[in-house]
Amino acid sequence: MKVLIAGNANDAKDVLGKMLLDEGYECIFAENSREVIDRVYAELPDIIILDANLSMPGSLEILSQLKSAPSTRDIPVILIASKRAHLKLTKGYELGAYDYISRPFFKQEILARISNITFACDRVKELEKLLDRDYLTGLYNRRFFMERFLEEMAWSVRYKEPLSIMMLDIDFFKKINDTYGHGCGDEILKQISSALLSVLRAEDIVARYGGEEFIILLPNTNPEGALTAAEKLRVTVQDGNFLCKSGDIRLPVTISIGVTTFNGETELSPDRLIGQADGALYKAKEGGRNRVVVYKQ
Ligand code: GH3
Ligand code: MG
Ligand code: MG
Repeated sequence: MKVLIAGNANDAKDVLGKMLLDEGYECIFAENSREVIDRVYAELPDIIILDANLSMPGSLEILSQLKSAPSTRDIPVILIASKRAHLKLTKGYELGAYDYISRPFFKQEILARISNITFACDRVKELEKLLDRDYLTGLYNRRFFMERFLEEMAWSVRYKEPLSIMMLDIDFFKKINDTYGHGCGDEILKQISSALLSVLRAEDIVARYGGEEFIILLPNTNPEGALTAAEKLRVTVQDGNFLCKSGDIRLPVTISIGVTTFNGETELSPDRLIGQADGALYKAKEGGRNRVVVYKQ
């Protein structure tokens, strides 16, 4: 675990730093107030121990800056302050500091405080992940998807960038369940999820929409790009090696995909766009499955 110790007093490095290094923590130091923010961005520490007596900028100003930036606001901050610095500590807590330690440094107490904070932060991260993810596949869930969809649509309107949406459904999935069992069906769902992620770009948003249906957002992607991506997904699944662990049986699986593109016209609602992708998917199923259909007005 990486700890940033920010303070210009000798004991920050010599005493506190040594205590933590001895316990196996990776320590980085910012001895100058102006260095702190740069070091945080360069190192992304797991926890910051910030001396409350830094000046120009002052520690509280640094704390306020850290807590207002999305990429740094979740890093827990412990202040080093005197027990009697009530006003400063109150302000620090109001700004989002997690805890404080005071001189003389008592090793066991500091380790216990760090351990408590790490435990609490890890639990929060786990819970946040559960809120956003589908338990079976690990993909985003529908709730998270809808939130992101609104944000991506707003981006698309503002920057006049196309946003493509794919609705994807596994063909004859019921047959896989009926023939090989529900457990095997679950295995296949997980493997298909990984296959989708392996083909798509990091900025694409893949979610499990329902049982064996997936929805995908492709930011800044026009209809031609979306069609290419959808074909790539279709072929990857068609040629994929999907196995049921229980019997090592390779199952041929195919998918059908409906695609539509939002051009930033504000009057279209998310539901209308999902309806368009759904309609195209329905045509793909009707047309014989294992195919991609692009929505046409
Ligand atoms: P089509 O080609 O028309 O999509 O046929 P299909 O059999 O895939 O479609 P249908 O909607 O009739 O069946 C979907 C099946 O997906 C039924 C259901 O048992 C299965 N399913 C949904 N969620 C899960 C899941 O979490 N695990 C497993 N194993 N199966 C699921
Ligand atoms: Mg279905
Ligand atoms: Mg299906």
